[in-house]
Amino acid sequence: MRTHYCGHLRKEHIGATVTLCGWVDRRRDHGGVIFLDLRDRTGIVQIVSDPERTPGSHAQADSLRNEYVVKITGRVTPRPPESLNPKLPTGEVEIYADSIELLNGVYKQLPFQVSAADTETVREELRLKYRYLDLRRERMAANLQLRHQVIKTIRRFLEDEQHFMEVETPVLTRSTPEGARDYLVPSRVNPGDWFALPQSPQLFKQLLMVAGCDRYYQIARCFRDEDLRADRQPEFTQLDMEMSFMSLDEVLALNEALISHVFKTIKGIDIPLPLPRLTYAEAMDRYGTDRPDTRYGLELVDVSDLVKDSGFKVFSGAIAAGGIVKVLPIPEGNAAISNVRIKPGGDLFKEATDAGAKGLAYIRVREDGEIDTIGAIKDNLSPAQKEELLRRTGAKPGHLLLFGAGDIPTVNKTLDRLRQVVAAQLGMIDNSKINLLWVIDFPMFEWNAEEKRLEALHHPFTCPRLEDLDDINNARAQAYDMVYNGLEIGGGSLRIYQREIQEKVFTAIGLSTEEAYQKFGFLLDAFDYGTPPHGGIAYGLDRLIMLLAGEDSIRDVIAFPKTQQARCLLTGAPAGVDGKQLKELYVASTAKPKSSTKGEGS
Ligand code: ASP
Repeated sequence: MRTHYCGHLRKEHIGATVTLCGWVDRRRDHGGVIFLDLRDRTGIVQIVSDPERTPGSHAQADSLRNEYVVKITGRVTPRPPESLNPKLPTGEVEIYADSIELLNGVYKQLPFQVSAADTETVREELRLKYRYLDLRRERMAANLQLRHQVIKTIRRFLEDEQHFMEVETPVLTRSTPEGARDYLVPSRVNPGDWFALPQSPQLFKQLLMVAGCDRYYQIARCFRDEDLRADRQPEFTQLDMEMSFMSLDEVLALNEALISHVFKTIKGIDIPLPLPRLTYAEAMDRYGTDRPDTRYGLELVDVSDLVKDSGFKVFSGAIAAGGIVKVLPIPEGNAAISNVRIKPGGDLFKEATDAGAKGLAYIRVREDGEIDTIGAIKDNLSPAQKEELLRRTGAKPGHLLLFGAGDIPTVNKTLDRLRQVVAAQLGMIDNSKINLLWVIDFPMFEWNAEEKRLEALHHPFTCPRLEDLDDINNARAQAYDMVYNGLEIGGGSLRIYQREIQEKVFTAIGLSTEEAYQKFGFLLDAFDYGTPPHGGIAYGLDRLIMLLAGEDSIRDVIAFPKTQQARCLLTGAPAGVDGKQLKELYVASTAKPKSSTKGEGS
């Protein structure tokens, strides 16, 4: 139907007759001369029609409205100097329309303006309901393009340069061990039995290694029925990978090469390699989190040993109870952080207590080197202790020291939160920086206080560091996360491939051999038939693309996302089904009928 795409026309085409198809982005009438912006996936080009030069198209041009679909044949012409548009890639040319064919019109009122020239913000509910119109808009069309480019770049690199092959794994399967709630699908032909949708392809990708696949990847849809947290999707996309016969260093190096290639290709940015590595212990110690944002300093300082005998009970009591005391030193230039904000009722005080802290102690170093404190800290520090505290935290006149005292997780959580808030408020974050790093040596297990047992921090197939096997409960894992400016973008591990180690790990998490067999027997059986050493990783692709697109929400880089209430406003899913369908599935609902299922966005 057409000879060219709109967005591809340039000076070189001047003199040619072209046929274009697309949507009327907008139409302007300049005293009889009609200008149309014609839009397709590649961009916009200006069409001109007037009674003298293009009598064959003028009446039709006059009748067009926004978002009509048209086919236009015309001559590519240089724009007059005064109407050159350097902002538009096609801005040096315009098309004199010899004929315009209307292919389809718009028969309802547009719920919002689609035109690239229109910058009004539209409510997200409305955008999601009319997603097909929203995706025509410049920003979303660009995001979809970017998504496509990122995935294409990944495929080319993994397949053509690194010998990976893509293998699809089942969507109707058994529960996988990622620790979230499963989406379940009843089986009609096997009454009473259920499939689970995969939380990740974890078990299948390991089976593919047993099968000799050597290097697997998949752009994989994963399903997790998680509680409604900000910016999560019930179904999301992972770049999922698994490799055989690679050491941990080789796995990390390959992934660094992949991610830096993506940044270079998509953004033209060079990421210096190798990426820095932080152990989990170091990350927690210095930043209070296992995904530190290292674009700014504000490192935490442990002063437990210094204050453990101090008469200040908040400190000595915390340490006596097995906890710690840490400091967030904030350099001068912090005038914006007044005492009112740190004291009860203040916003930083609230940040701290929201994170679980009981209070927020502080020290301010005055110009004369003396210190102001809240409560009784000062009276309980000897001059030597005071001096050592200032030395260790690097505090000088003008510094503010915020203290966390209590159990280790709470102190870390509190100071991590304050560190981020303070950095943002004091303008310490350089948004042009891209800091990628690895966090390694995670603990194998964490304590589940509710169930009073250890559970695998990553998943139970993660291999412990071999030198830690004698004290398995405290072992470090051969696991790694990739962190981008304080966000985890990917994580994985080397896997267990030897039966004795696997059994040790199951025992540590309180899983008997029978239970383990019930859950993952097919995998454990497979491991007895010659399993290569292997390991892998998965990236949250939606999040990675969101960061590359400079968006704040993964919904803006997914064509048809669900709302935070896990609903699709376009199709109305999830929705009720016929009683007959349920009967066929041997399922009965215990849900009380709702007065309205719409709720959101209506
Ligand atoms: N399956 C893991 C996840 O989804 C990633 C991995 O270990 O490869 O987080």
